[in-house]
Amino acid sequence: MDCLFCKIISGEIPSSKVYEDEYCYAFRDINPQAPVHILVVPKCHIESADVICGGNSLYVAKVFEAIPKIAASESLSEGYRVITNIGKHGCQSVKHLHFHILGGKQLSEKMD
Ligand code: AMP
Repeated sequence: MDCLFCKIISGEIPSSKVYEDEYCYAFRDINPQAPVHILVVPKCHIESADVICGGNSLYVAKVFEAIPKIAASESLSEGYRVITNIGKHGCQSVKHLHFHILGGKQLSEKMD
């Protein structure tokens, strides 16, 4: 499968890893939008949050178990934001489910 994030998970494409376990992989975004900008991805290919179902939701749950650990390791004690973009209107550019962790500064209230 020609998927950028599958290639990052396998190591075929290099990344700046911050966390890894059996179910997920986290790395620094190449174009950071905040002082801390990390992407957390499930190790199985799920196209987006729009196709989460009983058959793959364990991976999603494990991603959300990893997020607080990553936030703690990045000293995000004042808070942070988790975002996932879906499809064209959501401006999803990589078709492998990923959650952006943004933090390290006061983020804007604006959501769009
Ligand atoms: P999205 O627009 O929600 O699909 O987010 C995709 C994210 O992947 C963007 O924030 C990109 O900056 C990031 N990105 C694309 N290629 C790479 C890469 N090779 N390493 C790290 N982050 C990447």
